[in-house]
Amino acid sequence: MFNKLFTSRLLIIFSLVISTTMLAQPPGGSVSPQRTITEIGDGLYRVNTGPGVSGVFVFLVTDEGILIVDPSNPDVSEWLIEELNTRFPGQEVRYVVESHYHWDHVRGSSRFEDTAIFIGHENLLTNLDANIAEAPPPGNTRDENGDSLLARSEAQTGTLSNFDAMDLNADNILTQAELTTGIVRPDIVFSDRLELDFGGKRVTLIWSQNRHTNDLIDVYFPDHKVLYATDYVWINRMCCRFEFDGRPLSTWIESIRDLENLDFDILINSHFATGSKADLIGFRRQLEDFGYAVAEAIANGNSLEEIQLILRLDEYSNLEGYDSQWDAIIASFYGSLMLE
Ligand SMILES: [Zn+2]
Repeated sequence: MFNKLFTSRLLIIFSLVISTTMLAQPPGGSVSPQRTITEIGDGLYRVNTGPGVSGVFVFLVTDEGILIVDPSNPDVSEWLIEELNTRFPGQEVRYVVESHYHWDHVRGSSRFEDTAIFIGHENLLTNLDANIAEAPPPGNTRDENGDSLLARSEAQTGTLSNFDAMDLNADNILTQAELTTGIVRPDIVFSDRLELDFGGKRVTLIWSQNRHTNDLIDVYFPDHKVLYATDYVWINRMCCRFEFDGRPLSTWIESIRDLENLDFDILINSHFATGSKADLIGFRRQLEDFGYAVAEAIANGNSLEEIQLILRLDEYSNLEGYDSQWDAIIASFYGSLMLE
């Protein structure tokens, strides 16, 4: 049942801290204290949108223009357009890569519709046409009553805190059309892998094998030795709540194992800290070690409540959320393992 999991139990190696981050300087001279743009290497930039769920994305500048991955929300896109015009005058945004259908990553895409070609996984098209039950928002928000609408009482976590911004007609109901407003249907889709050569720089889009959502892609920059791994590859923090999005744990582990075969030095993920390849390996081991321990406890006849109470993996106690999210994380492993 659980034979795809588990091997060794090594300590996570601490992340490489990128120290060149500078505060973004919007036109007009004021400083945005929450949003930063950092050059990772040779025209590849990391954008941190500050506190909240919007998180982290990247863009690449070449002689042929700019490629953006996940332009976040409309406010961030407006800010980014000003930043790009100031920093790279005359350069057009030629490509937008949409990593998956979740609103927290791609609601800002339409701001680039005039100049850009949009790229995504083929399942993104299906998800944009699906109802809320089939393609739910991120986190634990679900269409509980099955009416294909999302009432405020059904919204959770980030979808609840951003409810008003997405409720365009202010009727206290979110439709799928409102949740996907601003997300541009991709012009180019692919199934497993897509190789781009943009201004002499290679960009490889890799389907994430049903990790998190069925349309999720990771983005690899081989010339920069950078991997932008999207939801969720977390560094020095516990993963993940919400039963791994209703997917078997082995699908997550297989996806991450394949990413380990890529040649890269810097790991950027779509939320929280940046790190190294060692962090990716550490993250996969975290999933394996917890998966192994929970599976073993289940096999020994323990209930979820008993496992939450008696299990300890002290080598991970330095991770953020180890104490505060323990019960939710163990419940996630338990639920995900039941799907194997
Ligand atoms: Zn997501």
